[in-house]
Formats: sequence, structure tokens, C-alpha cells
Amino acid sequence: ESLLIHSASHSYPVWIEDGIRHHTAELVRKAVPDYTKVFIIADENVGKLYIEDILSSFPAESRPDYTLLPAGEMSKSFAEYERLITECLQQGLDRKSVILAFGGGVTGDIAGFTAATYMRGIPFIQIPTTLLAHDSSVGGKTGINHPGAKNMVGAFHPPHGVIYDPEMLRTLPPEEWRSGYAEVVKHALISDKPFLNWLMENVQDLSLLQGERLKELLKKSIQVKADVVQKDERESGIRAYLNFGHTLGHALESYAGYGKLTHGEAVASGMIFAVRLSRAELNAALPENELRKYLASLGYRLDLEKEAEAVKLIQLMKKDKKTAGGRINFVLLEEVGRPVLKRAAEETLLHLLENEVAK
Ligand code: NAD
Ligand code: ZN
Repeated sequence: ESLLIHSASHSYPVWIEDGIRHHTAELVRKAVPDYTKVFIIADENVGKLYIEDILSSFPAESRPDYTLLPAGEMSKSFAEYERLITECLQQGLDRKSVILAFGGGVTGDIAGFTAATYMRGIPFIQIPTTLLAHDSSVGGKTGINHPGAKNMVGAFHPPHGVIYDPEMLRTLPPEEWRSGYAEVVKHALISDKPFLNWLMENVQDLSLLQGERLKELLKKSIQVKADVVQKDERESGIRAYLNFGHTLGHALESYAGYGKLTHGEAVASGMIFAVRLSRAELNAALPENELRKYLASLGYRLDLEKEAEAVKLIQLMKKDKKTAGGRINFVLLEEVGRPVLKRAAEETLLHLLENEVAK
């Protein structure tokens, strides 16, 4: 039982099941039947906890080698990328070898980029271990950072499979749960009111999220992302909707300094801001207060823009690689489930950034 995602080059399964990491070997064989060799790139924290589970799914005589990636965004660097390519060469990987990306979004992005570029592209499989990575492991974007610009160097390279074992999320720290859950709420807001209501009713404490409910949530959220990227893989149109909450979110992250705020915490403030902007610009009827209360009850700090200089945030939003020609385009909501792309007037932004939130 799995989801099937279609990309321009091939389709790939997303398996979601507790304990599925113990079946990695057979799933890799299913995803890439004719592979010659497997090499694992693992986040160091994840490696310490779970690498044995992955290795022991292979027969003793064909256990793959692995390398550990230092935890954190700093690993999405040119230096680390070069080291990984060197590892691939030393391992003797060929065009039919498979790289396993074992970790969160950081590992998925750089291991995916390594797979995308080594010999002009070899297959890779995502084994996501964070909640956020339900988002990053699907859709085919891979990449690394330039010292001056996040995610600036990359490639489209969809995986050949995603092996998602929600049991591994149990060891995630609370702030990483919140970071990933913001993307779940985003997927609900841009797609579907019943999903949003389901979340508000069923998810009131992230530390209790597990089992069937977690699986159902992951499936729904991945399906929303898949539906969008299947229609628009290379972001010419509606893929931009996935940026809901991210225009200000990215600016907040950059303003704070990368690593100071989790991505999802910045996006949570960004989503509330986009809701306020939607109400101001489109007169949209949106459950702003309900959403605020909900996110606050889960432990998110909101209205982070109030602690920053508005003019600087606007400069940062203009620099974002998704803003064309110095215009600030926002994803707004006409209602829950109906996103639209709209250019925002600077005066309006400044006003909303600077003024107190109407309670
Ligand atoms: P991450 O990969 O840095 O992981 C967060 C932290 O959790 C790390 O310290 C890691 O060591 C630890 N960790 C991971 N799994 C664990 C587990 N099971 N138990 C205990 N600790 C664990 O962060 P992330 O939030 O998963 O990913 C963020 C990255 O994803 C960013 O670089 C972002 O640009 C990228 N991203 C990519 C896409 C895409 O489409 N390619 C989409 C969204 C985000
Ligand atoms: Zn995001």
C-alpha cells in the first residue's frame, strides 16, 4: 500500500508505514530493480539512532557502505558536496547505483543533488526522518546553498522511491515537530477546508501524534503536495501556491540569521501574515483568530515580524528568488482551499507589518 507520484521522467512510490525501515533492502530492490550498488548518505544524529536498522535489512554479504553528514543547514555546502562526490567515486558507484538519503530535508537536498549530478544523474531514494521531510522528499527539488543565498544551486531530480517510517519521528525534538507541522497546516490551508478542520480537531498536541492518525496526516499532506507538483513540476504556475506563508517566512528566517528560527516557526508567522493580507486585499473570509489560537496552543510563536524592522523585511522579500523583477508576489487565499497569486503593494505591506494585530 503506497502513494504513487508522477514526475516528468518517471513515477515513484511513497511507502508510509511504522517499522518499514526494517524492510529497506527489499523496497530499494522494488524501486530500482536492476541496481548494482547502494550507498547511504545519513544525517549524523539519524545515523547514530537508526543506521543499524537499515544495514541489517540487507543480507550480511551485501551490506551497503555509508557516510555521515554533520547535522544542520551548514552541511548543504559546496565543500560537503565535493566530499560526497569524492565518496561516490571511491565507492565506485556507476550509473545504476543508488544513493539513499537518510535524514531530514538537509540530507535529502544534498544527497539528492549529489545523485542528480554524479555521472549526470543516478537514482536515489529518500528515507525521510523528520516531519518536515514529508514535504521536501516529494517533488524533485534538490540543492545546496551558496554562502550568500540559500538553495541557490540545485537541480530537479525526483527520487525513485520514498520510504517513510513514522516511528523514527518519535526521537525528533519538539521544535522540529513544530517546524514540520507548519507545512502540514500550509498544505491544508491551500487545498482543503475539511483537512484543516480535521487537523484542528485531531491534532492538539504534537507530542501525542503517532500511529494511524500520524500516518493518515502524512498521506493527506503528501497527496496535496503531489497533486500540485504533478500539475506543475517546474514552477511555472500553481506550484507557487506551495509558497504560501513563505514570502515573509523566508524573510524572517534570513533576518534572524539562518539556524536561529526553525523554518516552520517562521512559516507559521508568514501564514498568519498572508491571512491578514488576504483579508485586507481580497476581503477574504478566513478563520484568522481560530488559526491563531490553534497555532499558539501548539507552541508556535506568532507575529515574529513585529520584532523586526519592516523596511528590512520588505528588502529581503524583494531579494527572494521567487520574486520576479523586484515585485513582491504573495500567495493569498480567497478562502481556505482557494489560493491565488497576487502582487502586493508596498504601502499595504508596510502598513500590515508595522501595525498592531487587531484582536
Ligand atoms: P534537518 O534535516 O536539518 O533536520 C533537523 C534536525 O533534526 C537535525 O539536527 C537532524 O540531525 C535531526 N533529526 C533528523 N531526524 C531525526 C530523528 N528521526 N530523530 C532525531 N533527530 C533527528 O531539517 P529539516 O527541517 O528536516 O529540513 C530542512 C531543510 O529542508 C532545509 O535545508 C530546506 O531548505 C529543505 N527543504 C527542501 C525542500 C525541497 O522541496 N527540496 C522543501 C522544504 C525544505
Ligand atoms: Zn517550507
